[in-house]
Amino acid sequence: MLEPWTPVDAELAALRARLLEGERRALAKAITLVESTLPAHQERAQRLLSELLPFAGKARRIGVTGVPGVGKSTFIEAFGLMLVEAGHRIAVLAVDPSSVRSRGSILGDKTRMPRLAVHEAAFVRPSPSGGSLGGVARRTREALLLCEAAGYDVVLVETVGVGQSEVAVAGMVDFFLMLGLAGGGDELQGIKRGILEVADAVMFNKADGDNRVRAERAAAEARAALRLLRGRGQGWEPVVGTVSALEGRGLAALWEVVEAHREQQQASGRLDAQRAAQRRTWFEEALNDGLREAFEARADVARLLPELRRAVDEQRITPTEAARRALALLHAPPVGASASSG
Ligand code: GDP
Repeated sequence: MLEPWTPVDAELAALRARLLEGERRALAKAITLVESTLPAHQERAQRLLSELLPFAGKARRIGVTGVPGVGKSTFIEAFGLMLVEAGHRIAVLAVDPSSVRSRGSILGDKTRMPRLAVHEAAFVRPSPSGGSLGGVARRTREALLLCEAAGYDVVLVETVGVGQSEVAVAGMVDFFLMLGLAGGGDELQGIKRGILEVADAVMFNKADGDNRVRAERAAAEARAALRLLRGRGQGWEPVVGTVSALEGRGLAALWEVVEAHREQQQASGRLDAQRAAQRRTWFEEALNDGLREAFEARADVARLLPELRRAVDEQRITPTEAARRALALLHAPPVGASASSG
C-alpha cells in the first residue's frame, strides 16, 4: 500500500493555491523548490507535485532542438509571441547540458527572448544547473508539470543539439521539433540519426533572402532521406519544411502541424501510451539514480571506487571484476552506518 501524504502545511497550501491561479511568482518559487538539493526541500517539492498532479497534463509539450546558432531562441521568441497573441499561455523551459558541469547556462536565458520573457502570458525559465544530466532532466520534467498546473497550455522545452540531452528532452515531450540549417552538401550530416528517428518535424530555419532557395532544397533532400530512413510506418510521418524565425514565415503552418499531430495522437491513443511510457522510464531512471547515489554515498564504496577506476585504467583488472568487487560491498554491512537498521 502507498502511504498517504501527511497534510500540507499552510505555507505549502498557499503556494499551491497561488500557483493554481496562474501566479508567475508562485510558479517560479515552486520550481526553485523542485530544483533545490536540500532533502527537506525535496520532500516539500514532492508533496506539492503530488497535490498538483491532477491539474497537470493538459499542455502541448514541445521539444525544440538544434545546434547553437540555428536560431532556437529567435524561433522560440517568434513562435511564442505568435501563440500568446492567439490567446495561449506559453512556458519555456530548457535542458542545458553545459549547465551540468559549469553551472553556467547557455540556454533558456531570459535575455535570449527579451520580448517573450516579459509578456504576461509567458513564463521563461533557464535550465536548472549542476548535477548529472539525469538530475537536470528530472527537475525540468517536474517544472513542466508545475507549468501545466499553473495553466500554461503550451510548454516548449529547449535543448542544444548534443546527443544525450536531446534524448532526455524527447523523453518528456509529445512533439519533438528539430531545427536545421541548410549547409553545403549532405543536409543530414549535421543532423544525427538518433534525432531524426525521434523528430516529429524537421524545419530548416533562416529560409529568407538569399538563403530561402537553399533551405527549400535542403528540406527536399532531408524529406527524401527521411523516407528512406524511417520507411512508411503507421502513425505520424515526420514533417519536413522551412521556416524563417526572423521573418515569422512558416510559424503558423508549423503550429497547424503540431495541432494535427496532437489530434492524430489523441485519436489513436498514442498520446496516452507515449506519456505512460515516459512516466515509466522516468520512474526507472529515478530508481537507478537513487540506487547509484545511495551506493556511492557509502564510505567504503567511496574509498574503493577511485582505486578500482585506476586499476581499470591501467588494465590491472577487468572492468567486470572491478564492478564485481565494488558490488560485493553491498553484502558487507555499511562501514560507519548506525546499527539501528539491523
Ligand atoms: P540559437 O543559438 O540556436 O539560440 O540561435 P539564435 O536564435 O541566437 O540565432 C543565431 C543567429 O541567427 C542570430 O544572429 C539570429 O539573428 C540569426 N537568426 C535566427 N533566426 C534567423 C532567421 O530565420 N533568418 C535569419 N536570416 N537569421 C536568423
